[in-house]
Amino acid sequence: MPNNNFDTLIIGSGLAGFTLALHLARHKKICIVTKQSADSGASSWAQGGIAAALSDNDSPSQHVQDTLIAGAGLCDKEITQFITENAADAIHWLIDQGVIFTSDKTSETGYHLTKEGGHSIRRIIHSGDATGKAVQQALIQKIQTHPNILVLEHHIAIDLITSDKLSDYPRAQHKRCFGAYVLDKKQDKVLTFTAQNTVLATGGASKVYLYTTNPDTATGDGIAMGWRAGCRIANMEFIQFHPTCLYHPHAKSFLISEAVRGEGGLLKLPNGDRFMPRHDERAELAPRDIVARAIDFEMKKRGLDCVYLDISHKPADFLKEHFPTIYARCLELGIDITREPIPVVPAAHYTCGGVVTDKHGKTDLDNLYAIGETAHTGLHGANRLASNSLLECLVLAQAAGIDIANQPMNGLPQLPDWDESRVTDADEEIVIAHNWDELRRFMWNYVGIVRTTKRLQRAQHRIALLREEINEYYTNFRVTSDLLELRNLVDSADLIVRCAMLRHESRGLHYSKDYPDTLPVAQDTILQREI
Ligand SMILES: Cc1cc2nc3c(=O)[nH]c(=O)nc-3n(C[C@H](O)[C@H](O)[C@H](O)COP(=O)(O)OP(=O)(O)OC[C@H]3O[C@@H](n4cnc5c(N)ncnc54)[C@H](O)[C@@H]3O)c2cc1C
Repeated sequence: MPNNNFDTLIIGSGLAGFTLALHLARHKKICIVTKQSADSGASSWAQGGIAAALSDNDSPSQHVQDTLIAGAGLCDKEITQFITENAADAIHWLIDQGVIFTSDKTSETGYHLTKEGGHSIRRIIHSGDATGKAVQQALIQKIQTHPNILVLEHHIAIDLITSDKLSDYPRAQHKRCFGAYVLDKKQDKVLTFTAQNTVLATGGASKVYLYTTNPDTATGDGIAMGWRAGCRIANMEFIQFHPTCLYHPHAKSFLISEAVRGEGGLLKLPNGDRFMPRHDERAELAPRDIVARAIDFEMKKRGLDCVYLDISHKPADFLKEHFPTIYARCLELGIDITREPIPVVPAAHYTCGGVVTDKHGKTDLDNLYAIGETAHTGLHGANRLASNSLLECLVLAQAAGIDIANQPMNGLPQLPDWDESRVTDADEEIVIAHNWDELRRFMWNYVGIVRTTKRLQRAQHRIALLREEINEYYTNFRVTSDLLELRNLVDSADLIVRCAMLRHESRGLHYSKDYPDTLPVAQDTILQREI
């Protein structure tokens, strides 16, 4: 058997990948491949916290209710119940791993719980305003010292290896996954990884948009790989735009957490007038889609570059204690949040759709799982409730771990090596940079917060042209990390546009000027590739 042979191959080192590895490592030999350093990914960037019904006056059923309301009729009730009921255990598991959450001696839980838009109660447990960093740092220590877990950094997965690609594998059997081709970026070599079970934990696809709160890793790789391998993909039209990303020429993708509005931050026009009460009775605490659309509306109507989020009326000590990261970053850029409002714009933040899975993270292919932001479990419906995504990573990773631990170990076939016999080195890398920029710009302009059929058609036409060029590049030249990411971004953009065109209504995060009404029956948009 080849050297890169593991019980479980996990693609991605975010919260979903790490949680699964730690739950499974008692039973299985695990390899995590990750395309940058192990702490890359959105998980380390999460600020606000994790939603869980922890206090005596809260309950999983109340958490379910809030999630269903935000999800605008499209949440899967069973999965929502499953995740919210397992939330408290997931938090206690993190505490056992050494995660330190912000405490509050006056609360019966011992922890400070904050409130975010769409939640009817304070239920967000957090670690200051850098929850993701605190969680990932604690887990990484456990991962790095675990004898059954190997982490390979700077390894980017290219594609899954499935049974239909093997000429001597019996056709009658249900299609299954045997591993993946992975580019070792430092050695510039494509390796074949064989595994009993393979897990897509690659995060979301928000990099498809020009403005995003996400790290560079969010290029939709797992969604695109799952799609190319034959998995169903659902609800990609529901891209959550975070209403408040810092607007500053020298700051890239810096999020101003929802918790700032939760603690009393007010959205204002440049003249100091509040505008949210005109858009929704919940004002600044309305769900994200409503706030993002209201900001988009005010900016377009008045030709503004940004609006302002003002929390300077709160005591300076309170702000420094609750928002140390935001306070420090803004101050570095010359904005003192204790004295002045913060300039903000909306930006692509979260991919609600993804690879269709059941409540164990199982996809349509045998021995292939998808967890975290890559997956579509049905929790988020048409709009994710704030702080439900880290929770979904935790609960589904554990559920997938239980399922994988119980899978039988089968003999694995010899997999063909990556074929590089007909390719040469690329001579025009500029084409990739140009196409990357073009894609993200037209997705922002044509497939953004407010959509029309005409704009979607325009985007679809451009995607087809880009795909042609990229396929030509992919067939003729040696693969590079940039090319692979661009290929995945184009596939993700295509899936977003296709889903958006199939939805003839406005619901949750998808708003179409041509179909402004919401249909009486809520239905998922499910894409199945013709192979
Ligand atoms: C700024 C910000 C703040 C947020 N705040 C919150 C919050 O307060 N609460 C909350 O619940 N959610 C929050 N979210 C959302 C949440 O952080 C993400 O949904 C969640 O972390 C996703 O975790 P994940 O493990 O699925 O993916 P990620 O954490 O994104 O990890 C994906 C991993 O896969 C790797 N990868 C990708 N493609 C490949 C490939 N082809 N080969 C190998 N490796 C690959 C990446 O390098 C990365 O390591 C926030 C998101 C952002 C961007």
